Amino acid sequence: MKSDITIIGAGILGTSLAYFLSQATDSSVLVLEQAPEAAYHTSRRNTGKVHAPFLYDPERKRLFARAASLGFDMWEAFAKGKGLPFKRDGVLEVALDENGTKRLEKYMAWGERNGLQKDELKLLDGSEVSRLEPEVRCQNAILCTKDGSVDYGKFTQSLMEDAKTHGAQFLLNTKAEEIDSTKGTVTISAGQQTVETGLVINAAGGMAIDIAHSMGVARDLADIHFRGEYWQADDEYRNLTKVSVYSVPKNPEYPFLDPHWIVRHDGRCEVGPNAVPVFSPYGYTFAENAKEFPSKIIEMLTSGAARMLFDPQFISLAAGEFLSSVSKTVMINRVREFLPNLDPAKFHTRGTAGVRSSVISSGGKFVPDALIKEGKNSVHILNYNSPGATGALPFALHVIDQLREKGLVRLARTQCGPWDISRILELLA
Ligand SMILES: Cc1cc2nc3c(=O)[nH]c(=O)nc-3n(C[C@H](O)[C@H](O)[C@H](O)COP(=O)(O)OP(=O)(O)OC[C@H]3O[C@@H](n4cnc5c(N)ncnc54)[C@H](O)[C@@H]3O)c2cc1C
Repeated sequence: MKSDITIIGAGILGTSLAYFLSQATDSSVLVLEQAPEAAYHTSRRNTGKVHAPFLYDPERKRLFARAASLGFDMWEAFAKGKGLPFKRDGVLEVALDENGTKRLEKYMAWGERNGLQKDELKLLDGSEVSRLEPEVRCQNAILCTKDGSVDYGKFTQSLMEDAKTHGAQFLLNTKAEEIDSTKGTVTISAGQQTVETGLVINAAGGMAIDIAHSMGVARDLADIHFRGEYWQADDEYRNLTKVSVYSVPKNPEYPFLDPHWIVRHDGRCEVGPNAVPVFSPYGYTFAENAKEFPSKIIEMLTSGAARMLFDPQFISLAAGEFLSSVSKTVMINRVREFLPNLDPAKFHTRGTAGVRSSVISSGGKFVPDALIKEGKNSVHILNYNSPGATGALPFALHVIDQLREKGLVRLARTQCGPWDISRILELLA
């Protein structure tokens, strides 16, 4: 097979890229996806929130903050056009102590810098919170009204259908294996197929760093996978709160965010996610983790991740996450800090766990923002974590704009679906 551009991965990011490239350029677009469906992994195994950008430091998480600030309006317009659920329900971010309150003040400033309007973000004291949400206990909280709940799996499927209408080809059940970029074009062995392509875009989620390494890119970086687990609440909790409730993370420099009280778009309530270190981006089961353990542990010990493995604070936090993985009560108790009346006995079913892959620098630190790395005839998107689903459409446009600047694609049209993409690119700049 031949294509001008081959995207590896039909998660929400790879599919958003295919959606815009197939409409805005004259390049032929092929998407390789190893799973039987688009959004088979993290893109449907998440909390389903369209996150307001007040949580993201406009300097350290610049790309995520900019993409999230445009994501809400873009997904709202998309959902409306497709008749897909989009619930603008808002979120409460609660602080339980003085440190948390200081962090909320920082979030207020970040929210404003990231484009939220004054009436979309309110700092409340504990008694105001009690009037709004009688079950919630906290010192202070931010109420953000520009936050939504959706089904990102359905959004991705719908993007894929549109991309196909505009000529993009999706090969499902097709894993990109050997990739040879040493010649003028790139050759990819993918199952029964050999693909010859001018440009590879690596949007392979938890496998992105492995693919980058195999092409000689980002060799100084490593990753650690974290499984985020959920517990579903019984139906009697459906009206416990009006909005989802998040707590200020106690250790924001680590990817342990502390589980939330989640109200999903269809009213189901869950507690989660925790962040349990695992050995595979698909480490949902013991068997998969056991299979990947030997190679992953060697990889970690021979990279910057080794420093994290011997960091006492990381070890102690990871131990807490393990406990909340094996004990439902420990997990629910983390949320009882702000919803004290929750009863662990009212949670009978585990929710759908998803894995995030956090990139670690050679110095042993978690990388805060998404990374776009270039190789020969290839672009690699690494560390594409939360709020990755929220920001997928604008982030895809940002990547395409970089390709345009380098002369690798030419924008032939600017109207794509409900958007004039030149306007979005102006806002992203
Ligand atoms: C627990 C959890 C909760 C989250 N909650 C939210 C939230 O509420 N809001 C939000 O905005 N974000 C959230 N996120 C983050 C968001 O889900 C991710 O940033 C986003 O889904 C990443 O999309 P992706 O397309 O990069 O990756 P993926 O969805 O992982 O897609 C990558 C695809 O590449 C495929 N692939 C890999 N290797 C190959 C290969 N060699 N050949 C072919 N195909 C390959 C995989 O099968 C996969 O389908 C959450 C993440 C987690 C883990």
